[in-house]
Amino acid sequence: MTWVLDCGTWGLHTRGKRYAERGFADLAAYYRTHSASWRAAPDEYLRPDRTMENWRDWQRLFPDVPVAPVIQYQREGRPSASEVLRQLEEYASASSGVLLISNPGMTAGAWLDHLAWAVAEVKRAVPGVWVHVLGAGWDPVDIALYRRVPGLDSIDSIAYYTDAQRGVAWRLGGKGPGRPDGCPCPACTSGVRGMAALAMHNAWVALQTAGGGHGGSWARA
Ligand SMILES: [Zn+2]
Repeated sequence: MTWVLDCGTWGLHTRGKRYAERGFADLAAYYRTHSASWRAAPDEYLRPDRTMENWRDWQRLFPDVPVAPVIQYQREGRPSASEVLRQLEEYASASSGVLLISNPGMTAGAWLDHLAWAVAEVKRAVPGVWVHVLGAGWDPVDIALYRRVPGLDSIDSIAYYTDAQRGVAWRLGGKGPGRPDGCPCPACTSGVRGMAALAMHNAWVALQTAGGGHGGSWARA
């Protein structure tokens, strides 16, 4: 199992905030006190230049806290090959062993071809690197599609949680209003109740969909 610490960019973005307002010091302190397989650089959603600037600042300020760089796109729904190549020039020297690609708000089917190309480019520029897509997988059907991307190592999703907040239960191949009867997941076979049980159940379905936890890792952003 891979443990991921994310920097909370999506949460900040949805509240209309950015990193500059929060400061890197809090994030560095958080990263120092929690163990993880890797940690995300302080990126900014749909702001590749700010993200690269943050990356450089972080190297200068906290060289003892390695973070994985994040490729960001400029516009929602518009993944750009030239953006990938431009940012790869910056990040090819990163030594974290992981490179992240931030989903520009797309469903898997809409950008699988681009993503397959991008993953291949990243691995060509940084041999042996682990490639992870941030914010991927809106539901089990969407998650399953990411398994078709050659070389993609992992994805994460918050949708299992936001759907649980709305009372939507995931199941293999779809979703519905209630947890399916006879589900063997740890939530359904224990005394956990309410939203927590639904979130656990949905996360379990997500893991099964992604390959039993071996092909995917899941973090609440
Ligand atoms: Zn279940």
